Amino acid sequence: LTAASGGGIVAYADSARAEEAPEPPPRKKKVVVLGTGWAGTSFLKNLDSSRYEVKVISPRNYFAFTPLLPSVTCGTVEARSVVEPIRRMFEKKGKDVAYYEAECFKIDPTKKAVHCRSAVGTNLDGNGDFMLDYDYLVVALGATVNTFNTPGVMEHCHFLKEVEDAQKIRKSVIDCFERASIPNISEEEKRKILHFVIIGGGPTGVEFAAELHDFLVEDLVKLYPAIAQFVKITIIQSGEHILNTFDQRIAVFAESKFQRDGIELSTGFRVIKVSDDSITVKCKSSGVETLVPYGMAIWSAGIGTRPVITDFMNQVGQGKRRALATNEWLRVPECDSVYAIGDCSSISQRKIMEDISTIFKVADKDNSGTLTLKEINDVLEDICIRYPQVELYMKSMHMVDIADLIKGGVGDSNKESMVVNIEEFKKALCHVDSQVKTVPATAQVAAQQGYYLADCFNKKDHCVEHPEGPLRLTGSGEGHHNFRPFRYKHLGQFAPLGGEQAAAELPGDWVSMGHSTQWLWYSVYASKQVSWRTRVLVVSDWTRRFIF
Ligand code: FAD
Ligand code: MG
Ligand code: MG
Ligand code: MG
Ligand code: MG
Repeated sequence: LTAASGGGIVAYADSARAEEAPEPPPRKKKVVVLGTGWAGTSFLKNLDSSRYEVKVISPRNYFAFTPLLPSVTCGTVEARSVVEPIRRMFEKKGKDVAYYEAECFKIDPTKKAVHCRSAVGTNLDGNGDFMLDYDYLVVALGATVNTFNTPGVMEHCHFLKEVEDAQKIRKSVIDCFERASIPNISEEEKRKILHFVIIGGGPTGVEFAAELHDFLVEDLVKLYPAIAQFVKITIIQSGEHILNTFDQRIAVFAESKFQRDGIELSTGFRVIKVSDDSITVKCKSSGVETLVPYGMAIWSAGIGTRPVITDFMNQVGQGKRRALATNEWLRVPECDSVYAIGDCSSISQRKIMEDISTIFKVADKDNSGTLTLKEINDVLEDICIRYPQVELYMKSMHMVDIADLIKGGVGDSNKESMVVNIEEFKKALCHVDSQVKTVPATAQVAAQQGYYLADCFNKKDHCVEHPEGPLRLTGSGEGHHNFRPFRYKHLGQFAPLGGEQAAAELPGDWVSMGHSTQWLWYSVYASKQVSWRTRVLVVSDWTRRFIF
C-alpha cells in the first residue's frame, strides 16, 4: 500500500482484506471500550456500531456529568439529575452494544485481551473474573486522585471525582453543623468543626468553595443561627493565584469576590500532612510550618494515574510517564490496535525537527537541493496539519506567512525569489517545536477525542480504499494513517463563583464576568446535557432552588 500510494502514506493497513473478495461477509471486528466517562461515551455515541462488535466495560453503569458535581455537593442539583444510565444511552440509539459492569485490572496487548472483574457480587473464588479479546481496544479509563503521597490525605480528606463523593460531602457538611450544635462544645472547638478547608485552587476547588459559601449563607446560617458566626471557608493553594489555568483577569475577579465573601485564600502554601483534626501547611517562601485546625477538608489538588494504566505503560515501555502517551491519531504507538482517549492519556506531538530532512526531500520536487517559496507553499498545508506548532509559532511571532518565518532563517532577502538550502531551512524552523501544546485533562478534550476516534473507526474501510488521504507528508514511522490527526478545539471555559455570578473565558481572548455570565453558564450547561431527561431534571433543580 505504501508503494501504491506513491507519497509514502499507508492506510490502516489491513491488506488481507483487499484480496479475499467474494467470501462470506467478514467477521465483524471486536472493539472493546474501557470506561463510560466523557471520553468513552462520546466515542460510543458516535461510533457506527453496526460495523463492529462492541463491548463496553466499566464499574459504573452510568455516565456522570462531572461539571455539575460541585452543585451536587450542596444539593443545588440532585445526584440523579447528573447521571444517565449507560444502557439507556444504547437503547435509545438502538445500538447493538454489550455492556458489562466490571473493572478491567489488566490489559494484555500481546494476547490482545483484557482481564476484568465483575463489579457486582464478585466472588472470593474469582468467579467474577473474565477475559475479553479484542481487535481494537479503546482505553478511556480516566484518571484517579493524586495525593502526591502526602501523609494522611487518603484517610482524612474528601475528594470530588465521583457522584458518591459529592453525596458524601453533602452529608459530611451537615454532620459538621450538627456536631458543632451539640451542647457543651467550646467556642474554639466550634470554630474548628466549622472550618471547611479546600486544598487546591483549580476550577473544581474554586467552584466547590463558591457552592459551599452559597449553601452556608443562603440555607445553613438560617437553620443554625446559633453557630453561624463560627463558620469559615479556606482555600489553600500552592501557587500564587487561584484559577491559574484561566485568564489573569478572571483570577483577579475571583479572588476579590472571594475576599468580599469572606472566603480565606492561603496562596503560596503547600499541604505537607493531614491528621484527623489539623492540616500542616508550609509557607513556600519562608519555609515556616503551621498547623491549621479543621472540621472538614476536600482535596482537589491534581489527578493521578490508575494502577491498570501504570501496569500497561510498564508493559509497553512507557514506564516513567504519568499518562499513557498516544500519537496524534490517539493510538498508543507501541501497539497496533490500542487507542487511548481522555484523562488517562496524553498526546505526544511529533517534533518537526525530527522529520525536517524528510520534509525537505518531499518538498524539493525538482531535486535541486534547494526550496523555492512555491515549493514550500505547496507542502505548507500538510506541514501545518501534521505539525500544528508551525502555525502557533508564526502566530506567537506575529508572522503573516511562511516567507516571514523562512526569511528570518536566511536573512534579509526578497520574499518571492528566495531559495533555501537544507541548513537554512532547519535554522528557520528550529524554534517552532517550542510551541508544542499539551491538551488539558478536561471533559471538553475527552469528548472531542471520543468523537474524533469514532469518526476514524467509522471511516476505516473508506481509508483502505483511499490510502492517499489528505497527508502526503509523513514523519518516519508514522505511516499508519491517512486520517487527519486529532486537533483540539478550545471552546472556552467557565468558573462559577457563587452568588449567581460566574466568569467565562471564550475563544478570541474574550472574557466575561458577573451575573449575566451565570445565565450563559446555565444555558450552556443545560444544552450540554446528554439526554432530555437529565436536561429537564437539571433545569427543574435550578428552578426549584430559585423558588424555594
Ligand atoms: P472519566 O470521565 O473519569 O471516565 C472514566 C471511566 O472509566 C468511568 O466510567 C470509570 O467508571 C471507568 N473506570 C475506571 N476504572 C476502570 C477500570 N479499572 N475498568 C473499567 N472502567 C474503569 N471538565 C471540563 O471540561 N469542564 C468542567 O467544568 C469540568 N468540571 C469538573 C468538575 C469535577 C468535580 C470533576 C471531577 C471534573 C471536572 N472536569 C471538567 C474534568 C472532566 O470530568 C474530566 O476531564 C473527564 O471526566 C475525563 O473523561 P474520561 O472519560 O477520560 O474520564
Ligand atoms: Mg471515559
Ligand atoms: Mg465522566
Ligand atoms: Mg488527555
Ligand atoms: Mg527545489
